[in-house]
Amino acid sequence: CSKEKGRNRATFFEPEMDAALRIRRQLETDLREALNEEMLHMVYQPQVDAHGRMRGVEALVRWNHPEKGLIPPNAFVLLAEESGLIAQLGAFIVGRVFAETRNWHGVPVAINVSALQLRQPAFMVTISRLVAEHAIDPRQYEFEITETVLLGDDAATRDNIATLKQEGFAIALDDFGTGYSSLSSLQRFAVDRIKIDRAFVRNLDDDDPDALRLIQAIIQLAQALDLDVIAEGVETEGQRARLLECGCDHFQGFLFSRPVSAEALGQMIEARRPLGPGHQPVALAAS
Ligand code: C2E
Ligand code: MG
Ligand code: MG
Ligand code: MG
Repeated sequence: CSKEKGRNRATFFEPEMDAALRIRRQLETDLREALNEEMLHMVYQPQVDAHGRMRGVEALVRWNHPEKGLIPPNAFVLLAEESGLIAQLGAFIVGRVFAETRNWHGVPVAINVSALQLRQPAFMVTISRLVAEHAIDPRQYEFEITETVLLGDDAATRDNIATLKQEGFAIALDDFGTGYSSLSSLQRFAVDRIKIDRAFVRNLDDDDPDALRLIQAIIQLAQALDLDVIAEGVETEGQRARLLECGCDHFQGFLFSRPVSAEALGQMIEARRPLGPGHQPVALAAS
């Protein structure tokens, strides 16, 4: 009986593997084409202060697949890394963001950069080319890196981050608290600010004293290291109020605005209307 099962499994398994591999290969081909045809676009999510005033935006990539619809970045950034397309994807993102945001009256713009992209020695060549091409001021821009970037002791990564800082770009540590970065690496890489991960913010809703203490500890740590701090994934008034009590006065999340198109974001900047509860709501396009 067990022999029978083993045989069945073997014949069952292989076509499935084939199918998964075929789907993946197809997606890879599609991504390559999407990059060549520039079928990707950027959306922008506002970051606000305690008064709902826009203090910056985060750029987020979107892939509108002709058949599969909108594919979330979590699904294809990794694919790009694994199939050798990350440099091309990264260059597209940075170029597009520079082009769309350089006239936003100096509103700071954060750009996500993958750990693998940062490890490439040619990374800064691309960035410098794009800076010149779009005539942007690096001081308007911030690169968001994740804690995994700080973990490894990679020379090219260190050089790239140091050069970004020299050029005038700021560095934010994304999803803070989910990884294992040491305090010394925060200082060594001269990180400018940390973004408290949504996972911590979410727990604030249940009046969970542990969640509150955790947030307090993160904010105190940021203050001790003289880092700016922003909370991501803020969805409710309760979360916003508790963060504010703990001393965090910069927020990003659906409570204030979903990510919107460059055009819509440009209009929000022009309107200068405060965002979030207690203020006039802004009509938002879905992302
Ligand atoms: P992230 O950098 O931490 O970006 C924040 C994510 O949280 C975004 O998802 C955003 O839409 C979502 N978000 C914002 N506010 C809320 C909220 O209040 N509630 C909830 N539930 N979610 C919220 P998105 O755009 O799907 O991006 C997911 C991740 O993909 C990003 O996480 C980032 O790691 C990566 N990513 C996105 N765009 C890029 C890019 O241009 N380059 C690279 N390398 N990675 C990117
Ligand atoms: Mg980010
Ligand atoms: Mg994040
Ligand atoms: Mg996150």
